[in-house]
Amino acid sequence: MAETTRDPGQAPLLELDGVTVRFDRPRHTALDAVDLAVAEHQTVCVLGPSGSGKSTLLRAVAGLTPVDGGAIRLAGRDQAGVPAHRRGVGLMFQDHQLFPQLDVAGNISFGLRVRRTPRAEVTRRVAELLDLVGLPGAQRRAVATLSGGEQQRVALARALAPGPRLLMLDEPLGALDRTLRERLVVELRQLFRRLGTTVLAVTHDQGEAFALADRVVVMREGRVAQSGTPAEVWQRPADAATARFLGFHNLAEARVGEGDGAADSAADGAADGASRRVADTPWGPVPVPAGTPSGRHQLLIRPSGLALTSPEDEAATVRCTVRARTFRGDHLVLFLTPERGPELQATCPPRSAPPDDTRVGVVVDPAEVVTLPPAAG
Ligand code: ADP
Ligand code: MG
Repeated sequence: MAETTRDPGQAPLLELDGVTVRFDRPRHTALDAVDLAVAEHQTVCVLGPSGSGKSTLLRAVAGLTPVDGGAIRLAGRDQAGVPAHRRGVGLMFQDHQLFPQLDVAGNISFGLRVRRTPRAEVTRRVAELLDLVGLPGAQRRAVATLSGGEQQRVALARALAPGPRLLMLDEPLGALDRTLRERLVVELRQLFRRLGTTVLAVTHDQGEAFALADRVVVMREGRVAQSGTPAEVWQRPADAATARFLGFHNLAEARVGEGDGAADSAADGAADGASRRVADTPWGPVPVPAGTPSGRHQLLIRPSGLALTSPEDEAATVRCTVRARTFRGDHLVLFLTPERGPELQATCPPRSAPPDDTRVGVVVDPAEVVTLPPAAG
């Protein structure tokens, strides 16, 4: 099996350079000058809402959809004119569609038999793949008797069978219920690590993307809105639309005043009183990190940056009423109606959550405040 250590100096296995795909519908650009790279042994996950061009991207790389501009390179080689079956990529479709008339082994070995792999080798490979995906001994089972999760595993084994140099997964866990999805995503990650598989996956599900990926690429309307490690994208969304798509809600226009610029730049991140920066927001003044430049911004306050206190607390920045609460397993999300400004969402441990209609003070932790570019226009 391939060596699984990652060499950052290596040229990417897959490179997209300004790839554009247009469909006949007037002026519809499904992919608009997309740049993207996947390094060998890396898992890159493209995250975007439905219709953002994710499936089109995978089909273009697979050679199933012609491109109207830009270049796709695999291992440095331009794929223009290379037919799908010569690209050495595996694609697991969104609706994985196993062949119902074939049993599990028949499904997995399909691509191997097309390649006229010797029978003994096929048998060995099928057994190996079934072990790998956690379905040992399932060779003779009929596809119709498999659960959704088992079908997904068989579809994955089928995609892995010919040993593609790049494995592409379209909404790999989309159809499964949440518990199963969360378990499978961890298994997949371990499997790809162990095999050293290079993976390009696409999904609309943030949790799936962040759990699976070494790098996340956020797509919107056929364009790359942001790319980075899961931590980078999560910590610092590129803009308000990306932040909203990632599930953040506490967003508002803000203006950071001129203040004492010298003191700010000298503060060097130290959060002492003298270096406090404050933004004017619809909620009132909100502390922002030292060093935040003056001017207009969109402000994002992570829910964890809102600490509840009594409404009389001097330290409280915003006073709110608890409108509603939802239970999210290990914590509660509180929906807060501020005295002014848009709704705020805060998280807190279930036991310390105040009931609905309670008046609370909210202390904002500037370390959890992110300034994003101002809204266009
Ligand atoms: P996603 O997978 O992110 O949901 P798709 O790549 O399937 O998005 O589609 C992106 C856009 O391109 C959508 O607006 C879709 O309607 C359009 N589209 C996709 N395939 C075709 C096609 N074969 N002909 C015309 N339009 C298409
Ligand atoms: Mg799709």
